[in-house]
Amino acid sequence: MQSGWLGTGPRVAAFEAQFAAFKGLAPEQVAAVNSCSAALHLSLLAAGIEQGDEVITTPLTFCATANAILHVGATPVLVDIDPLTMNIDPAEIEKKITSRTKALLPVHFAGLPCAMDEIIDIATRHRLNVIEDCAHAVEATYRGRAAGTMGDFGCFSFYATKNVTTGEGGMVLARDPEPISRVRRMALHGMTRDAWKRFSADGYKHYQVVELGFKYNMMDLQAAIGIHQLKRVERAWERRKAIWQRYQTALSGLPVICPNEPPVHVRHGYHLYTLLIDEARCGISRDVFMGQMAAQGIGVGVHYLALPEHPYYQQHLGWHPDDTPYATAIGRQTVSLPLSPGLTDDEVERVIKAVVEALAN
Ligand SMILES: *Cc1c(COP(=O)(O)O)cnc(C)c1O
Repeated sequence: MQSGWLGTGPRVAAFEAQFAAFKGLAPEQVAAVNSCSAALHLSLLAAGIEQGDEVITTPLTFCATANAILHVGATPVLVDIDPLTMNIDPAEIEKKITSRTKALLPVHFAGLPCAMDEIIDIATRHRLNVIEDCAHAVEATYRGRAAGTMGDFGCFSFYATKNVTTGEGGMVLARDPEPISRVRRMALHGMTRDAWKRFSADGYKHYQVVELGFKYNMMDLQAAIGIHQLKRVERAWERRKAIWQRYQTALSGLPVICPNEPPVHVRHGYHLYTLLIDEARCGISRDVFMGQMAAQGIGVGVHYLALPEHPYYQQHLGWHPDDTPYATAIGRQTVSLPLSPGLTDDEVERVIKAVVEALAN
C-alpha cells in the first residue's frame, strides 16, 4: 500500500520470478493472472484451441476446468476417472480421441499427480497439447518433475482455499516463452505494453491493441501476499501432510473409505483429505454425515459432484451422470475434512472424534 503502486507492477514481477524459481523455470516461462480460470482460458487460447475443437478432461473437477474449454468455443470431452486415484484414467483416453481432439486437460485431483508418463505419451503420438490443471498441486511432483512443468502449460490457482493464496489469483507456466508473452498480452486487453511499463521512469510509451484480450492481470496487492505465502509453502505442506497422515491412521478402522496412500514416485500436494461415505456400509448417507459434522461446528466440503450432475452441461452438452459412473459415484459419496495448516492438534482430534461419533450414531 505504501509503495503507491497497487496495480500490475514490480511485486507481480517479483512473485512471478520467485514462483518460476520454485518450479525450476525461467521468469519468461511464467505469467501471473487473476485466477486459475483465467490461466486455463488463456492457456487454451495460446495453444490455438478454437471453435469446433475437442479437449479431453476429467469429470471429477471444479466447473472452471470445463468452462474454460467452452469459453474458447471448444467442446469438453469427458474421460472417466480411475477410482483408485480419482484422476483421469489414462487407459480410457485414446477411446475418446477423434480428428477434432486438440488437447488433453488433466487435473491433479486433491494434489495427487496424474499418470503423466502415459498422458504425455498419448499426447505425443496424437500431436495434442497438454494443459495441466494444477489448482490442487502447487507442491506436487511426479517422478521428480514439478506439476505444471510436464505438459505444454500448467495452470495454478491462488484462490482463498488453495495451498498458496493471494485471495484471488492464478499463474500460467509454459515450456516455451512465446506463448507466455501471448498470455501476458491477452491478460491485459491484448495491449502491447503493460501499464507499469507505460508509465515508467523513461517516460510515457504508447501501447497498441494487437488482439482482443481480457482483463485478467494480477495486481501488486495480490502478489505482495503471494510472495509471503510462497515463503511458507514447505512449512504449510509439512503440516498438511502430518494432518493427512493423522486422519489416515485414526480413521482407517471405520467403515468409511480413506484415500489410497500416494505411490512412491510422486509427491502428493495434500490439498484435500477426502472420505467416501457409502450409505450401505456406513448406515448414513454422505449428506446426513455432513449435517452431523456441521452440527459439531466442523466445516466440510464436497469435491466434487461430477460435472454431468449439473443442469447446464446436461442441457447444453447432453451429458448424463451415467456417462462417467466412477466420477458420479465418488461425487455422491465424497466429503472433504478440514486440512488447513492452521489447525491445531486439538482441533484435528476434535474432527476425528466428530467423524467417529457421526458414524457410531
Ligand atoms: C479452484 C479450482 C479452479 C479455479 O481456480 P480459480 O483461481 O478460482 O479460478 C480450477 N480447477 C480446479 C481443479 C480448482 O480446484
